[in-house]
Amino acid sequence: MKIIFIGTGSGKTSKERFHSSIFLESAAFNLLIDAGDGVAKALMNSSIDFNSINGIIFTHYHADHFTGIGALITQMKISGRKLELTLFTHKNLVEPLINLLYYVYMFPETLGFNLKIIGYRFAEKMIVAEDFSFMAKQNSHVVPKGGIEFYPESMCISSSLSFTIAGNSIVYTSDVGSPNDLYLFDTLKPDIYITEMAHIEPEDLYLVFKKINPAKMFITHIDDEKFNKLVDWYDNLDDALRDKITICNDGLVETLG
Ligand SMILES: [Zn+2]
Ligand SMILES: [Zn+2]
Repeated sequence: MKIIFIGTGSGKTSKERFHSSIFLESAAFNLLIDAGDGVAKALMNSSIDFNSINGIIFTHYHADHFTGIGALITQMKISGRKLELTLFTHKNLVEPLINLLYYVYMFPETLGFNLKIIGYRFAEKMIVAEDFSFMAKQNSHVVPKGGIEFYPESMCISSSLSFTIAGNSIVYTSDVGSPNDLYLFDTLKPDIYITEMAHIEPEDLYLVFKKINPAKMFITHIDDEKFNKLVDWYDNLDDALRDKITICNDGLVETLG
């Protein structure tokens, strides 16, 4: 299987990086994680055929993770896609997803392919295909702020994800609320640990690496302003650690067994 980092930027629009998105390519199923603003163009930049995507999973609905879905499904429709597409989102967020597609005129009946939407629950193993499963856990990235409820608490959903694909264990923090969220899957010793960088500091990465001890760590969701600090931290690590840690850029490919 392969992990392809489609976009490695943060929520701030950048000339250097697309917003955060990761493609998990395997023999059984090809899954895109998040579809933020600009994702269709980001996929083209990484030479990913839109119609090779079997499913898309959403971690939360900030624009840098969600609002590209209307444009991406439009491209699939225009290209004459016939292959079924499955969207995975937390069960509380199914209705807003259906609404977004409706408001960009992507009516399921007119797409030309079958669109399936599956609502996942936290801490429940979801089998996507043979040798391909995931589990979501709630992190504290999206929480009601200051007692003012701009939207219902039921929509305050943000997920960290763990995957088991062809025998590989992959943890993806997605956006977190605090360093504590980095340890949601701390009973696993994953082959690959993918962490965001915009809401934590490099020192937090060192601590999490020491505790979780993954075979490899990949750093994504990088703010341009934080990039130099991250590189300084990385350059000062000892060689053994640097070999196991990668600062991602758009289009980076990691091939696993
Ligand atoms: Zn984000
Ligand atoms: Zn976010």
